[in-house]
Amino acid sequence: MGNSSSIADPTAAGGRYISKQSAKVTRPKCSEMAAMMDTQMPLRDDLNLMGLQELDSHLSIFESSNGGRDSSTPGAMSNYPFGDSITTDEQQRQTIVVESPSENIPYKSSFGPAISRARFADPKFNSPNSAERHRKPASDGSLHLRPESARDSMASSMTTDIDDGSSALSSVSSKGTSPTGFDPSSRETTRTASQMGKRREKYDIRPKVSIPTDIAPSEYARQCIAAAESSRLNPYSLHPEEHAMLRKHITHQQVTTYLNIRNGILRLWTRNPMIGVERDEAIGCAKDSRWFDIASVCHEWLVRRGYINYGCLEHLATGKEVKKQRGGKRKRKTVAVIGAGMSGLGCARQLEALFSQFEDRFYEMGEDPPRVVVLEGRDRVGGRVYSRAFKSKPKYPTLAYGNRHTAEMGGMIITGFDRGNPLNIIVRGQLALPYHALKPDTTLYDANGRPVDTNRDQYAEKLFNYILDRVSEYKFKIPIPAAVDGDKDLLDAGRDVTSEGSKTISEVEDAPTPALPNDKASRTPEVQMIPVSSDRLTGRAHLEPGISGAHTAAYKAKEIGWLLRPGVGIEQDLDLETAVRSRYATLGSVFDEAIRQYTRIVDFTPLDLRLINWHVANLEYSNATTCNKLSLGGWDLDAGNEWEGKHTMVTGGYQQVPRGLLNCPQPLNVRKNSNVTKIAYAPENNGSPSRIECEDGNVIDADYIVSTIPLGVLKQHNIQFEPVLPDWKMGPIQRIGFGVLNKVVLVYEEAFWDQNRDIFGALRNPANRFSLSQTDYFTQRGRFFQWFNCTSTTGLPTLLALMAGDAAFSTESTPNDVLISEATKVLRTLFGPKVPNPVESVVTRWSQDKFAHGSYSYTGPNFQPDDYEVMAKPIGNLFFAGEHTCGTHPATVHGAYISGLRAASEVLETMIGPIQIPEPLVLPKDSGLKRKSETVQSPKDPKQARLEAYEIEIWNAIYAKLGDRPWRPANNYANPYRMYSKDKWEEAKRKCEEGRRPGKGKPIPNEVKKMVTKMWKEACEAERKPYNEKADVQKKAYAAAMAEYNVKAGQWDKDALAFRAVYEKEHASVPGPEELLDSPSRRDRRAKRGVSGYAEDSGSDLDI
Ligand SMILES: Cc1cc2nc3c(=O)[nH]c(=O)nc-3n(C[C@H](O)[C@H](O)[C@H](O)COP(=O)(O)OP(=O)(O)OC[C@H]3O[C@@H](n4cnc5c(N)ncnc54)[C@H](O)[C@@H]3O)c2cc1C
Repeated sequence: MGNSSSIADPTAAGGRYISKQSAKVTRPKCSEMAAMMDTQMPLRDDLNLMGLQELDSHLSIFESSNGGRDSSTPGAMSNYPFGDSITTDEQQRQTIVVESPSENIPYKSSFGPAISRARFADPKFNSPNSAERHRKPASDGSLHLRPESARDSMASSMTTDIDDGSSALSSVSSKGTSPTGFDPSSRETTRTASQMGKRREKYDIRPKVSIPTDIAPSEYARQCIAAAESSRLNPYSLHPEEHAMLRKHITHQQVTTYLNIRNGILRLWTRNPMIGVERDEAIGCAKDSRWFDIASVCHEWLVRRGYINYGCLEHLATGKEVKKQRGGKRKRKTVAVIGAGMSGLGCARQLEALFSQFEDRFYEMGEDPPRVVVLEGRDRVGGRVYSRAFKSKPKYPTLAYGNRHTAEMGGMIITGFDRGNPLNIIVRGQLALPYHALKPDTTLYDANGRPVDTNRDQYAEKLFNYILDRVSEYKFKIPIPAAVDGDKDLLDAGRDVTSEGSKTISEVEDAPTPALPNDKASRTPEVQMIPVSSDRLTGRAHLEPGISGAHTAAYKAKEIGWLLRPGVGIEQDLDLETAVRSRYATLGSVFDEAIRQYTRIVDFTPLDLRLINWHVANLEYSNATTCNKLSLGGWDLDAGNEWEGKHTMVTGGYQQVPRGLLNCPQPLNVRKNSNVTKIAYAPENNGSPSRIECEDGNVIDADYIVSTIPLGVLKQHNIQFEPVLPDWKMGPIQRIGFGVLNKVVLVYEEAFWDQNRDIFGALRNPANRFSLSQTDYFTQRGRFFQWFNCTSTTGLPTLLALMAGDAAFSTESTPNDVLISEATKVLRTLFGPKVPNPVESVVTRWSQDKFAHGSYSYTGPNFQPDDYEVMAKPIGNLFFAGEHTCGTHPATVHGAYISGLRAASEVLETMIGPIQIPEPLVLPKDSGLKRKSETVQSPKDPKQARLEAYEIEIWNAIYAKLGDRPWRPANNYANPYRMYSKDKWEEAKRKCEEGRRPGKGKPIPNEVKKMVTKMWKEACEAERKPYNEKADVQKKAYAAAMAEYNVKAGQWDKDALAFRAVYEKEHASVPGPEELLDSPSRRDRRAKRGVSGYAEDSGSDLDI
């Protein structure tokens, strides 16, 4: 996990800040950093080739050792309008202010800088017509392809302020989640071109034009794979929807080539998400013209589903000839989106983008592209992402000009910023917002104020996770969708297949005895993702592959380090069956029973229970409810879908993101203060009138409606649906829970806490502080249990406390002064009696907010596994989005955003129909069609052919003269751990078999690996010595061989260079007459396309 703020990190020393001048390195502003990146990029080849995550660590060169500066907060407070039943408390003045919501912050003042930063970040934007330059058809009718290098500026547009090298991952998952949530089986996702009466497309493009030639194929492949991972798709496997779309058209073998193209298109997007990937550019990822159609289909699928070309992006006219109807007014449909939170704005922005990219389809239907209107009940956008301005202002501003000083009332942390989170693209790649990567290191303070011993903390956390693991045995068994994988080795090498097979995927799958080469069902069924540790920043569990509840409770406790009670053997186990069978079983009830039974195995102390309950509170925070309201089978439904990377907070307020979606590139049509009271929709989608009525009497006629109304509001039944929502929709509305998390935000004159920490935890005593009864901890454990140091993102010395579980609910009815004084008491226990009263404080009460009625969704006790999917399903022309409709990432900002992309895609599909699939989708090898297309599209360049031949001639001469270049010595060095691991593998396996519960099978490699690691960690010096010594000898031998190699190779290179110079002089290469036939217009077109850096087509399936 990275550290420190992107602008400046005020560091307290002896109660004072270290001045900015004393800092060794001053952190550049993001625009400066972007500029620096631009200038550095050409110098560092490796930077040019980076995936997003690697970029972070490379950018640690910008890390400020101390970006602190003098700062203090004036006590002055002005009344600032804030909203939505969110109350603030000014402790010093003893006045509690509650006003109506209002937030008319001028767009320019706070958003302007973000835009200019973003534009500055990409030098191409300095030219006013840059985007145009890439899209306009050329005078000769050909499209100007964007040079591949135009995408290299992604790095420069991605500001970052990290890494400290510790780089804790929020999770490791390359699992391709299905965020768009389409159920391929439920509807027709594609149609063949013949069904549509369409003719095969012709392409004026060459194969490979979008594949760089200045990097090795394996490096290109690595970038493509990283791009797929960054785009929430599995690089090695078809997404279920791709599977459904392609299964009748391609063979299992052809999947590899398809994935190479798809990942290549994603690479183009992630390298510079400031410009959309056009179809022709995408087609240029195919290495052979036979694959153009499938590349085109793939591009359309990626665009429609919001895997590329999404966010704050300008979409210019397609440039295609538009067949407009003569005379008369064309029809223009209206899509009304209800709610301007992340899902609503994301959906509306995406609809605008899709309507622009598919405008020709509307013109073909005799319509204008539809209009989009957003109806929002509040007088601000962002919904549950609300950065409320503080009244306090810093004496010495630490934030960049234009940044606001705000309290994050709702969504705050961007979880798993890298590799998949679409907000990464928007925050860093498009809006260039500064952000702060959170350090996961937490100090847990006991109720007496002393930091808890780390070992003790670990024991408690591991036991907590073991109990969750045991409870996970009762989770819903969700079937794994059939996956079709490509060839991993070929994909890693960036190579397509040579032998393409003859039977389509569907022919193989539908055969009476299917022999599926990649059928996941054939893999060990017992391996699951099991909780191993908890994320202290988000409360979510980290998972690893393993066998759920493999060991007995006593064995596990002993393995962790707990002392077993006298007379307890490792065979002693928990029996949770009775608790599980109860009608009222929930995660909480079974967990509490497990703790109760554990008291017979180990001797808990009150501190142990305080610690375990701190972790329970953390879990309650991530679910916004108490454990005893969580579904036993589905409490971690989304587990395993987390993305890699740091958790981050946006400096100056998260609300800049929804405001970016609202305003960039052009403002959306949002009607604020439009509280929707009635929705009349067409359940059969038969064109019958649909209208939306608002509280103020306004009526909006719409052809399609997208509701992002929060689940909490839907549960109130205050909005009238006509006709009433069917039972199948009302079921999930009732069964999915909508919980509460609240916050108490405190601003101080000066920071008195450790500025190097981003979070710290506080253990809470139950009413009877010596209690060993689990139920006694219920009410207190979530009160001010977790504190965030928000100084670097707010620009003011700020602490933010979470009120989770029961405490969140009780916050709703506790007066502000009581809460503030309790918070101050907790802080005084931790930091001493001198802790002052805050100069400003803000308390949230999300349950009382009439446009949310709570914080976020959770899986209630009666939850059914497909409830989120059913919640997302449209009814006629009424579509649904919002975090509560995203089963893969519920309760999050990115989940809300993804749901908006999904809904936009569904609306478009209803309007223009599914993707058209040409038949055949991949032309047969050596077909007349292929040969024809290649002669038209891929003439051999005589100059290039001559130069290639000349290069080969030179190298042959060099080898003839000097012999082979010296070989690099093999690295036989094995690190001591690896040697130990090899030796001890069997012993570790035996240990894993000890204390194993019946029916849990043999240990899987991951378990054994973990055991070996544990054994190595615990091994004494003497045990490690032989391995260290052996490694040392090998290391020295390798170093000597390398030194010799470097000398010899250096000399060979020198000699080769000298010989080359002489050879080129004596045997110059002369252009032949055929080169003169290369017409000026052809050369001109190539230059316009920037082909120079790109591969010419060799017509080969194999090499790049
Ligand atoms: C305290 C708190 C902390 C959180 N922390 C995090 C976090 O750290 N990370 C994270 O990823 N997520 C977090 N979340 C969750 C995240 O904020 C939400 O999941 C996400 O913002 C929901 O977006 P949405 O578009 O689905 O709903 P909303 O943002 O609620 O948008 C719905 C919109 O509909 C409007 N609306 C409602 N009723 C009507 C009506 N009748 N007529 C017209 N408009 C209406 C609302 O005003 C609102 O603007 C947190 C939430 C809370 C409350």
